[in-house]
Amino acid sequence: MAHAAHSAHSAHAAHTAHAAHTAHAAHTAHAAHTAHAVVSGGGIGGLATALALARQGHRVTVLERGEAFTEIGAGVQLGPNAFHALALLGVSETVRERAVFVDALRLMDGVSGRPLATMPLTARYRARFGNPYAVVQRVDLYEPLLAACRAAAGVTLVAGADVRSYAQDAAGVTVATADGRTYRGDLLVGADGIRSAVRARLVGDGPPRVSGHTIYRSVIPIEKVPDGLRWNAVTLWAGPKWHFVHYVIGNGRYLNLAATLDDGAREPVAGRRTARDLVLHRFRNLGRIPRRLLELGADWREWVLCDRDPVDVWTDGRVTLMGDAAHAMLQYAAQGACQALEDAVVLGEVLAGAGPGAAGDVPRRLERYNAARRERTARIQLLARRMGEELYHPAGAAALARDAMLRALGEDDLYERVAWLHGAREFAVPH
Ligand SMILES: Cc1cc2nc3c(=O)[nH]c(=O)nc-3n(C[C@H](O)[C@H](O)[C@H](O)COP(=O)(O)OP(=O)(O)OC[C@H]3O[C@@H](n4cnc5c(N)ncnc54)[C@H](O)[C@@H]3O)c2cc1C
Repeated sequence: MAHAAHSAHSAHAAHTAHAAHTAHAAHTAHAAHTAHAVVSGGGIGGLATALALARQGHRVTVLERGEAFTEIGAGVQLGPNAFHALALLGVSETVRERAVFVDALRLMDGVSGRPLATMPLTARYRARFGNPYAVVQRVDLYEPLLAACRAAAGVTLVAGADVRSYAQDAAGVTVATADGRTYRGDLLVGADGIRSAVRARLVGDGPPRVSGHTIYRSVIPIEKVPDGLRWNAVTLWAGPKWHFVHYVIGNGRYLNLAATLDDGAREPVAGRRTARDLVLHRFRNLGRIPRRLLELGADWREWVLCDRDPVDVWTDGRVTLMGDAAHAMLQYAAQGACQALEDAVVLGEVLAGAGPGAAGDVPRRLERYNAARRERTARIQLLARRMGEELYHPAGAAALARDAMLRALGEDDLYERVAWLHGAREFAVPH
């Protein structure tokens, strides 16, 4: 207990010192009228939340289980809705500097090599959606968020803080970590991912659903890729019960490869090393061109994908969830991180002007956030599952039906289909 008291005290002291150092009269003057948010999890969602709340003048303490604030992993696609959110968080320019702006999303028959559909992402698309579509390395999204949090007055980042439980009362919420430290805030945001400890207590719906799909990922230097195969497009090769997608990341320095198999896998796996031969064997039906690209992969790692069923309620009093903790989805719509960024913006909006303690109006504001986000995110969770079944993995007659459906769609039809998803205004808070 002595340790707990000391640690909590030193966290408080660190913050006070930070506030004193930054000597922002505005911040100090605000302090009595703004809230203190504790955020569990310092991933993309947690940092975006910290930034959104700090921009409203709130104080934020981010508790991250890992020993450092870092993000590993491969590429992530960002729709125009993500760039809209990043602009509202003040980091759009730094992310854009590192992004690769792709010319098209292409769906190909993975066996015959025939193009099935192409959605251009150039001028007309950008004009329609107000922002570009891009791919980045995860770190190229994470680092700008981290730098902005570090520069923001009122954000305290605490690594090595594994959140285990919380308790709330009329005036606030107390969060406890595995090593016994406690943090007191006006609200708690669970941004601790698909296996969120905060969700376990708040929703209590057990472990995530194992999708039965295994994904193999590899990132290779672009020099390994023959000139003729260096397309500036997110290219997806679809086959019976599998698909293979690749795109350029890292300012054009790498090619991100991801091959997914509907193999009925039952156990969750995260980042296990896998032999190249095994990957080549499992995807032996790939046509000539995708096969050439797959063969370039090295240092493969595998994941068994998980998601969750949508739930209506992920807020209880002063505690709420965001990002994967609230609505974990399969990556087929490429929207998990985009939705976490949207959540953060909406949290910032509903908490604008919120005060501390019992009079702070926090529970009602968090209800508004939950209400503003649940339908959109549930729809995307379900869409992502359907995209796997109906667009990427169908076989036989179902694949022929898909091909016929896609053939009938022109460029404007494709834009119309994704408008609700990529459109930036779709996540405004209703007043
Ligand atoms: C293969 C794959 C491809 C993807 N591609 C895309 C894409 O193209 N576009 C897109 O938008 N999204 C994509 N996603 C989804 C995206 O990665 C996630 O939706 C996003 O990372 C969610 O961010 P988050 O901050 O909510 O959760 P996470 O990134 O999981 O972060 C959670 C953080 O909380 C910490 N944590 C966990 N438990 C605790 C605890 N008890 N106490 C304290 N800290 C804790 C973790 O260490 C971590 O730092 C993809 C996902 C996968 C698996």
